[in-house]
Amino acid sequence: MTRADMLIVGSGFFGMTVAERMAELGLHVVVIDRRDHIGGNAFSEPDAETGIEVHRYGAHLFHTSNGAVWEYANRFTTFTPYVHHVYTKHRGEVYPLPINLGTINQFFRSALGPEQARQLIAEQASELNSEDAADLEQKAISLIGRPLYEAFIRDYTAKQWQTDPRELSADVITRLPVRYTYDNRYFNDRFEGLPTDGYTAWIERMADHPRIEVRLSTDFLDEGHDLSKSATVGRLPVVYTGPLDRYFDDVEGPLSWRTLDFEREVLPVGDFQGTSVMNYADPDVPYTRIHEFRHFHPERAYPADRTVIMREYSRFAQRDDEPYYPVNTAADRERLLRYRELARSERDVFFGGRLGTYQYLDMHMAIASAMSMVQNRLPEALSLGGVRR
Ligand code: FAD
Ligand code: UDP
Repeated sequence: MTRADMLIVGSGFFGMTVAERMAELGLHVVVIDRRDHIGGNAFSEPDAETGIEVHRYGAHLFHTSNGAVWEYANRFTTFTPYVHHVYTKHRGEVYPLPINLGTINQFFRSALGPEQARQLIAEQASELNSEDAADLEQKAISLIGRPLYEAFIRDYTAKQWQTDPRELSADVITRLPVRYTYDNRYFNDRFEGLPTDGYTAWIERMADHPRIEVRLSTDFLDEGHDLSKSATVGRLPVVYTGPLDRYFDDVEGPLSWRTLDFEREVLPVGDFQGTSVMNYADPDVPYTRIHEFRHFHPERAYPADRTVIMREYSRFAQRDDEPYYPVNTAADRERLLRYRELARSERDVFFGGRLGTYQYLDMHMAIASAMSMVQNRLPEALSLGGVRR
């Protein structure tokens, strides 16, 4: 091994933020990733046939209200003024999301003003009190009432999670706002945009530091190399951003994850759906949404006669699938407590990121949480014996 003060497992936004910050503090950092590219799930690449930038692991939209995260991100990339909008197809009609006055009036064939719409939804939602909502279904009904829930949420959520919405945490749905205006920006955040030269260029700039070494196609949990778990834990501080349960060899039983299957296709048309993301709310369509990547960068000169689309299918992850979203059922939450206990007793190993903490984290949250680890927890580790500075 070349000189290393610290090992980081995983080159997603969490791992790369820790790496960049620690390198700036003067440490030599080695980052490994089991994949053959950096960037974790935010990785993007030009489609070979059309040159259109494709997000290999699903569309990634950057948005944040955190000024420190926005300032940090802007050190490595500029952002386009892209503002995300999502539409959904339900029974042969297209509606705007998130649910807003336009969706409500189209759905109820009405022309209600904001106050009237509020009253209507309050009546429909009155069967449940939002404060008492214990699961996703109750929470959604308490926020938008049963008719809208059944049209736009119930079947989409069942397709996406393959779990009864009554088993899912209410938090999942709180991510989606309801608006009594015609504003259909998908996100509420202060800052939003797409990296001008793509996600991979952004993350490569984070890695471009004389004290950062990146080794790809290197699995921490495989034996037989000098950066494996058994070769490093206890010898130097490790930040681990892989799946929490796998680190402990599933000793408390596996945590359940959702994986996605992506079906990419180049179509001989200049524009397939007129927007970047179309959701499919009904159960008879097997995929949850279609991404059309050209619409993420209207400022770029892409071919006028071809377009790249990607259908997204969701299912439970099996042992060898990529774990994308924590399902987080009650049983998972119990297991998670036991894994957290184990993690606390693992000396000099710091668990972070979406997979390492079994949390639904957006990119800006992964970056914020990595910055906080660098500020609050790692300095202590760096005073440990065996760390050369
Ligand atoms: P990851 O990006 O998952 O990186 C973890 C890395 O660890 C991976 O590269 C993996 O290969 C590596 N690794 C795992 N195990 C090992 C091992 N044993 N050895 C070596 N390496 C290992 N966020 C947004 O802000 N906006 C979005 O629109 C958005 N859309 C998303 C869509 C999808 C389909 C998914 C899955 C996520 C989305 N996210 C989005 C979340 C975003 O991907 C994450 O917030 C971000 O990637 C978190 O970074 P991370 O470093 O925690 O994890
Ligand atoms: N959701 C839904 N219908 C939609 C879009 C979202 O029911 O058309 C629900 C679904 O349960 C989903 C959650 O809202 O898991 C959060 O949606 P988001 O678009 O943030 O999900 P992500 O992009 O992270 O998959």
